[in-house]
Amino acid sequence: MRLVVIVLVAGGLAAAAGGMLGTQEPGAAEERGVSVTTPTPVGDAREAPDREPPARDSRDRSTAAPDSDKPRIEWRSSQAVGLPHAGNLERGVKLPFGGVNYFTWDPIQKESPNRGWRRWGTDRLVRTTLRVVRDFAAAHPRAPRIGIGDLSRPRGGDFGPRYGLPGHASHQNGLDVDLYYPRLDRRERAPLGPDQIDPSLSQDLVDRFVRAGAETVFVGPNTDLGGPPGVVVPLVNHDNHLHARLPG
Ligand SMILES: [Zn+2]
Repeated sequence: MRLVVIVLVAGGLAAAAGGMLGTQEPGAAEERGVSVTTPTPVGDAREAPDREPPARDSRDRSTAAPDSDKPRIEWRSSQAVGLPHAGNLERGVKLPFGGVNYFTWDPIQKESPNRGWRRWGTDRLVRTTLRVVRDFAAAHPRAPRIGIGDLSRPRGGDFGPRYGLPGHASHQNGLDVDLYYPRLDRRERAPLGPDQIDPSLSQDLVDRFVRAGAETVFVGPNTDLGGPPGVVVPLVNHDNHLHARLPG
């Protein structure tokens, strides 16, 4: 009898393992989900394949996340295809929903974390962004975590208004990332405008992306943020976040 139970349990485990191994790479499912041709806003049904545990902030909770919940990155060599305004992303890497140095922010639903299908970039973009926020946190231990917004869709391509207003003209080939300026009140959410941002911390974040090799960093024209001409470029609709673009 005991043997039968063991066999049954082992069989169950094998089936579970098979199920896990058989699970498709999330991006593939996501991409199928968002490739519906109807121009309706992205809904819950499309997000279903990308369901993730909620972000945890161990500083606010007594229960630390168990190891199995720690976000892991599936690194692979990515390819940015075409241009930021007309391109695609091959073998992209998904930025985890949050970490000790950053939270992600959904610019459409205005909540954290950002939905998974909005968090794909090249391995270089994800690595560079994580390094910048890590170094920023080390240099400013009292600063709030940095908010990271949209990167690209799992396979890049159109990221326009059908994915939430106002939509992105670029963010198509995994080389673009939005980061919210740190707030003066240290709250971990997107600032509403320039009067809510910490100017020196925000400038430092801009400088770090320039040093990290960004081709362009778009900043809000009302923020007083600056940098090398032609690299740090004022652009409307960037008064609450910077947009860093790596060279292709
Ligand atoms: Zn952007």
